[in-house]
Amino acid sequence: MNNHCLKCNATDSLIGITSRACGNSYISYPSGEELDGYLPNIRGLCDSDGLMIQICIQCGQLHGLDLVKMREQLLAVKPNN
Ligand SMILES: [Zn+2]
Repeated sequence: MNNHCLKCNATDSLIGITSRACGNSYISYPSGEELDGYLPNIRGLCDSDGLMIQICIQCGQLHGLDLVKMREQLLAVKPNN
């Protein structure tokens, strides 16, 4: 596994955090709308079972996050979309 931050160049700074909440997850939107249940599959952020991130503890950068996919997926599952 590559444990080198591509943003700040720190080495041995990437920490993986996984939370298997399964259907007990929720998303809150700026409008105040909320989505309860399983999360969408977004590389670098989450899959249906829960949060799954790799973050640099030096600069806070999320690694492997697909920003385009994240926007698409989060808007696709938005309530009243
Ligand atoms: Zn970093």
